[in-house]
Amino acid sequence: MASVAKEWREIPGRYNLIGTKCGNCGKIFFPSRDFCPVCRRKGIGKIEKYKVARTGEVYTFTVIYDAPDANVRQKPYAAAMVRTDDGILISGQLVDVDLDKIEIGMRVRAVLRKLDSDGASGVIHYGFKFVPEL
Ligand SMILES: [Zn+2]
Repeated sequence: MASVAKEWREIPGRYNLIGTKCGNCGKIFFPSRDFCPVCRRKGIGKIEKYKVARTGEVYTFTVIYDAPDANVRQKPYAAAMVRTDDGILISGQLVDVDLDKIEIGMRVRAVLRKLDSDGASGVIHYGFKFVPEL
């Protein structure tokens, strides 16, 4: 999650999930990569920006009761793998939902939320979380 937070910090306020797509083999990466590991050695990989679908469904999830200190205020919470409508698996926290009502296949949508802030430097970390799709 650290690298994801870093990317979002560079583009706060944006809602799109930007990944990359290999123009050669069509493989999509999220978070974005600078190269395609499949095509890299052939020297023919052309990497393009790719806007990942913000909607998808819960692929699997776990309710976490014993949260690390940084998450104390929000425990317990649900950590999920979401399969977006274009087939990308993304891990993220499920929020704004009754933990008892989460189920596999539930429709969700990615939203940008503040993850945490560094009180000393004032830096705010942004990241995406998932909420039920209405
Ligand atoms: Zn490729």
